[in-house]
This record gives sequence, C-alpha cells and structure tokens, in this order.
Amino acid sequence: MIIPLLKGLKLTLSKFFSKPITIQYPEERLDPAPRWRGIQYFVRDEKGETTCVACGLCMVVCPSGCIYVETAEDEQGRRYPSVYELNTIRCIFCGYCEEACPVNAIKMGKNYELVGYSRDEFILTTGRLLEEESLNT
Ligand code: SF4
Ligand code: SF4
Repeated sequence: MIIPLLKGLKLTLSKFFSKPITIQYPEERLDPAPRWRGIQYFVRDEKGETTCVACGLCMVVCPSGCIYVETAEDEQGRRYPSVYELNTIRCIFCGYCEEACPVNAIKMGKNYELVGYSRDEFILTTGRLLEEESLNT
C-alpha cells in the first residue's frame, strides 16, 4: 500500500524540480519544426514586389478552393495578380499551392498565429502575403 504511494510521490517530486516543458507564451515562442506548414507568404523580387505571375495553378490545385486569382499585364507584358486572395479560414495547410507554383512565388511559412477580429482579416491579399514574408526571413 505504501510502496505505490511512495512511487507516486517520487514521480511528482522529480517533475516538480525538473525543467518545465511549457513556455510563457506569448513572451516566449517556440520555433516550429522545419517541415511545419504555417501561414503562406509571397517571395519578393529585387524590387520588393511579388514574383507571382498569376498563372492560377495554385487556385486550380487547392483542394479547399480557398485561392482566387485575377490576372493582369503591365506595360512590359509582365503578368501579375491584379487580385490575389487566399482564405485562411478554409485553408487546410496541405502545401499543394507551394508545390504547384512554377516560379516558387508562394511558400508555406512558419507563422502559426492565425487570429483576428473579423473574417476579412483572414483573407490574405498580395500585400498581406508580402508582409508575411518578413516573419519568415
Ligand atoms: S495550403 Fe492547401 S488548402 Fe491551403 S491554400 Fe494552399 S493548396 Fe489551398
Ligand atoms: S502563386 Fe504561383 S501558382 Fe499561384 S498564381 Fe502565382 S505564380 Fe501561379
């Protein structure tokens, strides 16, 4: 009767004095695993703009149907997304969009803090996706 009690006390005391496995979030943050698929970001070119050529492959491959792209062309004939919207509420973070992109313009990031006060805040536009890049460099 006393032996199991002592064993339990020993375990409790060893955990009491060992290094904590929890962290003081949000003051402290854990680095996610290297293969973690977090919030997407757009890779910038040398001018700081998106390298996306608005081919729409990510939109086609996305199993959740959460990407919407409209294509436009600038004076030099370069294609760019006049509208790019990624609805993170519907996203399942499968990473297919990153895999399908022929120019490596979209990447799965390491940011896991997906919070907001309105639904609109969860729609990532070109600007938001470029802002996300700074969290991944
Ligand atoms: S991670 Fe998957 S579900 Fe999310 S936008 Fe990319 S393809 Fe769609
Ligand atoms: S992010 Fe990549 S796959 Fe998606 S529209 Fe742009 S270039 Fe095409």
